[in-house]
Amino acid sequence: MKLGIVGLPNVGKSTLFNSLTKAGAESANYPFCTIDPNVGVVPVPDVRLGKLAALYDSAKITPAVIEFVDIAGLVKGASKGEGLGNQFLSNIREVDAIVHVVRCFEDGNVIHVDGSVNPLRDIETIDLELIFSDLEILERRISKTAKSAFNDKSLAKELEILKAVKAHLEDGKLARSMEFEDDDAQEFVSSLNLLTYKPVIFAANVSEDDLADDGASNEYVKEVRGFAAENGSEVFVICAQIEQEIAELEEDERKMFLEDLGLTESGLEKLIAASYHLLGLISYLTAGPTETRAWTIKVGTKAPQAAGKIHSDFERGFIKAEVVNYQDLLDCGTYTAAKEKGLVRMEGKEYVVKDGDVVLFRFNV
Ligand code: GDP
Repeated sequence: MKLGIVGLPNVGKSTLFNSLTKAGAESANYPFCTIDPNVGVVPVPDVRLGKLAALYDSAKITPAVIEFVDIAGLVKGASKGEGLGNQFLSNIREVDAIVHVVRCFEDGNVIHVDGSVNPLRDIETIDLELIFSDLEILERRISKTAKSAFNDKSLAKELEILKAVKAHLEDGKLARSMEFEDDDAQEFVSSLNLLTYKPVIFAANVSEDDLADDGASNEYVKEVRGFAAENGSEVFVICAQIEQEIAELEEDERKMFLEDLGLTESGLEKLIAASYHLLGLISYLTAGPTETRAWTIKVGTKAPQAAGKIHSDFERGFIKAEVVNYQDLLDCGTYTAAKEKGLVRMEGKEYVVKDGDVVLFRFNV
């Protein structure tokens, strides 16, 4: 699961990306790896893991992770090959969702590419590049499909949908704001991998002073919130510079620093959790003396497929899952106590695994 960080130059993308990966690198026990300087593997903060590990006296904790990709270089004209535009756009095509950083801070020392701070104009600039790039894809697809549709009448519907999406984008709208006739149409559009179909979180990058009230008194943030509400996106208020400073602190210092700012968790933690949610992901947990671990699944995943995340043998030989809710287990104090209270359930192949289920799979080898 990958999220791409996009935004105009000088809005704070790299600062945000560096603090994300720095925080990731320092999280205890996670074998942090840099696949590429622009890709960071970031653990998903989950307070349940520590508590569960204490219950089992686990030797190791392994959190769920998501990947963030720093997609620099998106500028006006990128879709026409300006700068290394097309290359950056193709990087965005590979991600599952987008974190769009918008500058909402004033700082005379940091030049804005368009001369002034104006988040709505910036969002429009980026969106237009994404739209142009999608239009190119659609045009190619339409001409290909139109040719094949001569011999294959079943393609008529696809052609019609492609043209409708094109018209929608030509109106300056994003593919994700389109309403579809039926699930098939939606599925088809989703398979096109359009940039403007990807879910977006806006990260409103504010100055330190605006953190305490979550950007409520910052006019730029208000504008971004208004825009996001109309477009079904979420907004996160963040101060990338402070996050970078926080990421460099030791654990205890970090807590104190946050308290001084009147915060309980860092903006990054909130952003990571929101990204996970945006991707439709949840975690189920496994626990034992060797390891307590969070496993990532999509909402709606059934027990055998969830088991397959651990090992394909678990999925193939799946018999049943012993499941207890995390909070129930913690309240009971031990697995045996939870069992005695009837809180450990035996679930079969059709069981849809929930967030926070502590699971023990039974399988044939
Ligand atoms: P990018 O081009 O979007 O990757 O932007 P950078 O992360 O390189 O940031 C551009 C400049 O803005 C750098 O000098 C940063 O130190 C500065 N910057 C980033 N975030 C903030 C912030 O929250 N407040 C202020 N005042 N400056 C910031």
